[in-house]
Amino acid sequence: MSRAKLEKLGLTLPLLPTSTVGSFPKPDYLLQARARFARKEITQKELEALERKATEFWVQQQEEIGLDVLVDGEQYRGDMVAYFADIMPGFRMGGLVRSYGNRYYHKPIIAGEIRWPGPMTVKWWKFAQGLTSKPIKGMLTGPYTIMDWSFNDYYPDRKSACLALAGAIRKEVETLVEAGAKVIQIDEPALSVRPEELPFAIEAMQMVTDGVPAYFITHICYGAFEFIYPRMLRFPVHNFDLEMSNSGLDLIGLFKKHPFNKDLSFGVLDVHSHKIESPMLVKERIAKALQVIPKEALWVDPDCGLKTRTVEEAQGKLRSMMAAVKEIRQALDKAPKRKQRRIEVGSVVKKRRKKIRKHKYKKMRRRMRHKKK
Ligand SMILES: [Zn+2]
Repeated sequence: MSRAKLEKLGLTLPLLPTSTVGSFPKPDYLLQARARFARKEITQKELEALERKATEFWVQQQEEIGLDVLVDGEQYRGDMVAYFADIMPGFRMGGLVRSYGNRYYHKPIIAGEIRWPGPMTVKWWKFAQGLTSKPIKGMLTGPYTIMDWSFNDYYPDRKSACLALAGAIRKEVETLVEAGAKVIQIDEPALSVRPEELPFAIEAMQMVTDGVPAYFITHICYGAFEFIYPRMLRFPVHNFDLEMSNSGLDLIGLFKKHPFNKDLSFGVLDVHSHKIESPMLVKERIAKALQVIPKEALWVDPDCGLKTRTVEEAQGKLRSMMAAVKEIRQALDKAPKRKQRRIEVGSVVKKRRKKIRKHKYKKMRRRMRHKKK
């Protein structure tokens, strides 16, 4: 549990802090502008003005919905790995490969020494933080995932490529903290792909986070967690943000066998479904999480980034989530008193039942005596 860590950083968050995994859908005008930019019909400056407009929209939406820890919405990013590979020296873009379903992306190639090119995300973090008094998360992709989603034509093995990337991401983390970021999320969706590589993935994350005064979250999705749990608890971050709802909350069973000992951002919204979850369904999911995670250690958010939903679906899902969280917070506030009352009520009921039983017994005895006579 890291409440103390958060308070040390000057962050007082309510019970069940709410957040999102990072990406939001891009409004139509931005999608069109990105296509026009690709065809060289508008300038970088014109595109950036629209990216700022969309960022402002999402920061304002998150405030209005009532989330506690906000994100910049990644309106300026395409793919979470290609964005960094595009900027970092050492990479060149490869051909199109299929990622999932009918989605294709340019798989980057590590073709030289990887270096940190100077701030990659800080400008956007500062812009978003300037729009709100709520904390904005720094958002990065982790060294293991960038390595796993790229071809390696330069380093002798996957581990050395991963550690070289860790050095560059560490510098980005330090720059975010210097700018004022207190919560930094470093996504490692690929973490469970090859369980035998977990030790060097941990070593890389140690390089990234060691001694840095920030609260670190790692998001992992589509994982085969049963192969890396509980070993993954050695990952040096404060909070694991896990996809739970799309996998039918299966992980809860694992947590019952071996207790989860970090803060958990519990995914309560299925980002692959168009359907907007009802607050009742979200409440049921949170109640299940509370069976295995102490309330002080639980955060609530969607399963993954919302970028594949429509703007309206993303808004609707988050409103449902917030309504559910508010109700559960109220119930938890009142819980000690109610529990006491239930105990009192319980003992009164018990006494009354005893009386009734005694009364019935006497009546029966009387009847028996009567029969005998
Ligand atoms: Zn994800």
